[in-house]
Amino acid sequence: MSDHKAPKISMVVFIDALGWEVLKGRRFLEAQLPVRRKLRSVFGFSSACIPSILTGLLPREHRHWSFFYYSPKTSPFRPLKPLGFLPKSLVDRGRVRNLISKLVKRAYGYTGYFQLYNIPFDQIDKFDYCEKQDLFVPGGMNRGKNIFDHLTQAGVPFHVSNWRESEESNLAALKADLSQGKIKFALLYMAAMDALLHEVGKASPLVDDKLAWYETQLKEVLRLAAEHYEEVRLFICSDHGMATIHTHLDLMRQVEGLGLVFGRDYTATYDSTMGRFWFHQAGSRERITQLLEQVPGGRILPPEELKRLGCDFEGDQFGELIFLTNPGVLIVPSHMGTKPITGMHGYHPDDADSDASLLSNVEPPTDPKVITDVFHLMRAEAGV
Ligand SMILES: [Zn+2]
Repeated sequence: MSDHKAPKISMVVFIDALGWEVLKGRRFLEAQLPVRRKLRSVFGFSSACIPSILTGLLPREHRHWSFFYYSPKTSPFRPLKPLGFLPKSLVDRGRVRNLISKLVKRAYGYTGYFQLYNIPFDQIDKFDYCEKQDLFVPGGMNRGKNIFDHLTQAGVPFHVSNWRESEESNLAALKADLSQGKIKFALLYMAAMDALLHEVGKASPLVDDKLAWYETQLKEVLRLAAEHYEEVRLFICSDHGMATIHTHLDLMRQVEGLGLVFGRDYTATYDSTMGRFWFHQAGSRERITQLLEQVPGGRILPPEELKRLGCDFEGDQFGELIFLTNPGVLIVPSHMGTKPITGMHGYHPDDADSDASLLSNVEPPTDPKVITDVFHLMRAEAGV
């Protein structure tokens, strides 16, 4: 241990899906991180929330939202269409889809998170994908600057996790950099909580076990940081919470029951909590709207509301009509998954289970209320 400590380190630990309601009634680093705030989330999945945290921008501005959007002219997936002629029992197996996703990612040089999920191969040539680039590097955004652009431009020495790696490996990499005492800012990325909450739900004792594990790990990070820095500032933030599923909705079957032709009359993509529609023939919009108005468990989001949520996109990029399910209602099957699960997010930000958290050992330099404010907090902490 050196006698000369560096003056200050600011660390932001991102724990995916560590919602305000997930923490409620649980003890988690209370002594170490006494400053605790609820943050309002941004409407969308992590593919929308994380870009908002990294840029301080709303989805309308950074143009990251749900992964797939209708764009036959720019679709890079035409070569995959023939897979639609193969038996679904073969090409729709999880492992086969994962393998094809990896091959596509490599062939096109995508550096972002890329998953084909369950988009049907016979329709895949109608869609484009919004996260082709790694978000966690300078220039990673579809539009706007992220925190890494600012850090790099200002020449601040920083650490950022590799989101492709495990939590254990990300912790080890951060500790190695802390021991050097050279970095001034760090962003640690932890994704396993989200997967666990989807699987077991927020009420499970396995969530307590996971929190206890984070607590042990982060105490060790704090201890190590204090060895090498005079002042250690730690913030834990999340992107959203997790609602518990109580109802399944087979929206796809209901829409298909109208007898309209997918691709000719309309195009749809079904996320876990949303149906998103584009219309190509007169009358399709009216018929689908009429149906959706009767479907219990969700509602069509009016344009004014999408605008308030920052999800009104130029050219209706992510859908001309957005149907959102009520908290706890899961669209199954969807293009995101075919199996029912216990927890889901991507509901309306007004729902308490959507709220994210911010925990820290110091008062935040700004007054964060929304997850986009984490960006401003990071800039203030890094002095960029
Ligand atoms: Zn998730």
